[in-house]
Amino acid sequence: MNTFSIAIHGGAGTLVKGMMTPDKEAAYKRALQIALDAGYDLLQGGGTALDAVEIAVKHLEDTPLFNAGKGSVFTAEGTHEMDASIMDGKTLGAGAVSLITGIKNPIALARDVMEQTEHVFLAGDGAMQFAEQLGYTIEDTAYFYDEFRYQQWLDIKDSGTFQLDHSVKKDSKFGTVGAVACDQFGTIAAATSTGGMTNKKFGRVGDSPMIGAGTYANNKTCAVSCTGSGEFFIRGVVAYDVSCLMEYKGWSLEDAANEVINKRVLNIGGDGGLVAVDSKGNIAMPFNTEGMYRACKSSAGLKTVAIYRD
Ligand code: ASP
Repeated sequence: MNTFSIAIHGGAGTLVKGMMTPDKEAAYKRALQIALDAGYDLLQGGGTALDAVEIAVKHLEDTPLFNAGKGSVFTAEGTHEMDASIMDGKTLGAGAVSLITGIKNPIALARDVMEQTEHVFLAGDGAMQFAEQLGYTIEDTAYFYDEFRYQQWLDIKDSGTFQLDHSVKKDSKFGTVGAVACDQFGTIAAATSTGGMTNKKFGRVGDSPMIGAGTYANNKTCAVSCTGSGEFFIRGVVAYDVSCLMEYKGWSLEDAANEVINKRVLNIGGDGGLVAVDSKGNIAMPFNTEGMYRACKSSAGLKTVAIYRD
């Protein structure tokens, strides 16, 4: 049996020890643990990597602690526009949605795009029409409301600037969620979901729903889910770059992921991190910020739930 493993993230940024109350820290760790266990248990029972990443991301979307699904940030119009994508490393099947509103679990819709259409990426009205056709419930805005996110938005609403998720200062903290997994059969998958950036302009799309930038999976190399300053992660084609270093240069997962996060994306001005697995079940979770909400578990005995740089 192949070593199976899962790694998840809940965003990266200026996460310095002591900044959060112990209660809040415990709540974040608990939420990460629940999402991780949901994915791991599924893998342990012989489930697929694709199902594992979807269930883990759904759990993270359902908690208001993270900037995805419930708890998504506010746009300049005071609305929520969410993005998500998912990819299967075995078939290279991929699905993505962008600029959607009212959908409780954007990751499920991204998977439906992958499995129920001939397309990879649906955005805006078209994505919403597709969701309605499939019978998705459209939640009202009250479901997504979070007081903390609202205050964040009020703080910068009239400034003409935008800001990455619950920042202490501009560009300092991101709360996108993501998961990667390797199943007992050696298949890998990746999923990412986000509310984007506070006060973002209507129509702004980040890296999270873009296959190759925020999400990528290929059994030959790796599965990757990113979080960080989306514009830079798009320019760096970050998730695919990790895969390319492995495929073209024969690098290990660890070396490729580190090179991309700690050198290449940093050199172009991007901050953030990623979680990645390969088809042997190896895990990498590099970040170039002070911290990243992250957790991983593998059948080889690895187990981590962490926030800060240790
Ligand atoms: N990458 C996301 C975006 O730019 C933000 C994040 O990671 O929190 O939309």
